[in-house]
Amino acid sequence: MLAFSILLLALSAMTAHAQDPATPSQAESRTALVIHGGAGYVPRESLDAEAERAARADLGRALDAGNAILSAGGTALDAVQAAIVVLEESPRFNAGKGAVFNARGGHELDASIMEGHTRRAGAVAGVTTVRSPITLARTVMEHSPHVMLAGEGAEAFADSRPEIERVPNDWFDTDHRRKALEKAQRQAAAGDGHPGQYFGTVGAVALDRHGHIAAATSTGGMTNKKWGRVGDSPVIGAGTWADDKCGVSGTGWGEFYIRNAVAHDICARVAYRGDSLAEAAEEVVNRIVPAAGGDGGAIALDREGNIAMPFNTGTMYRAWIKPDGSRGIAIFEE
Ligand code: ASP
Repeated sequence: MLAFSILLLALSAMTAHAQDPATPSQAESRTALVIHGGAGYVPRESLDAEAERAARADLGRALDAGNAILSAGGTALDAVQAAIVVLEESPRFNAGKGAVFNARGGHELDASIMEGHTRRAGAVAGVTTVRSPITLARTVMEHSPHVMLAGEGAEAFADSRPEIERVPNDWFDTDHRRKALEKAQRQAAAGDGHPGQYFGTVGAVALDRHGHIAAATSTGGMTNKKWGRVGDSPVIGAGTWADDKCGVSGTGWGEFYIRNAVAHDICARVAYRGDSLAEAAEEVVNRIVPAAGGDGGAIALDREGNIAMPFNTGTMYRAWIKPDGSRGIAIFEE
């Protein structure tokens, strides 16, 4: 019976594939993946060789996790989630373990995920005990009628899903983030309102063999943020966007990303104006955001597997695998 059902499923998948006008030709059915580990201002001399090696190794492992799924014929959605889980588990990035502290000395995590061709999306904001916020965001997408759950309601939803792993809030603590909080509080007391040196959010955008795109972002937000502050990362259209032509994950000063609908604007320029992905991403990240007074970066990917990674902050941890299989990892401007 089971074998028969599987045969039926396989047959219907084959027929659907044959009839789908969007089915990519062999030449187009190549995969691509781009990830980021946050935009920021890391002076080259302040990043010691060991820290750089470790960050590059984490980015490489995240790329491998996503790429393993794509090269086995898996979905872009699974690939972006897998890449992000690796970075959430790393204490070096501002997502999951290693998330920044808010002004109260605790952690509130935001994440979102979107699948382009179906426009399905899921997000969580201000969660405090969920080990993998991106996994909970996907669970909201797949197992609730909603797009975004926040705070206590998101925690209650997590309670109802036994597969969601929970940790005490101080599990996210790291010494370097505690020092960053103390520094940010000293700077805030001295009247410096720019929080830029503390970025470290993670994101991923993937193109799978079926020509489908997904994007996802996960973060602890901004150091010393007010309790209850929600940034752009969980806001669909601001920090994360995917449609059938384009996907984006942003990183930067979230308030400006929300007010300029950054992720959606990049893809809208591709969809409505026919801009190239590179032109669209460059215009939004390097002209519109700075003109508004913000800063940051973004990763973007289109249906042809073109990748754009603009940033205006001096550094953006990033890594990619192009459709031709070439890959790279970079931190500084190159
Ligand atoms: N965009 C994130 C936020 O504002 C921070 C970051 O990208 O590092 O919450």
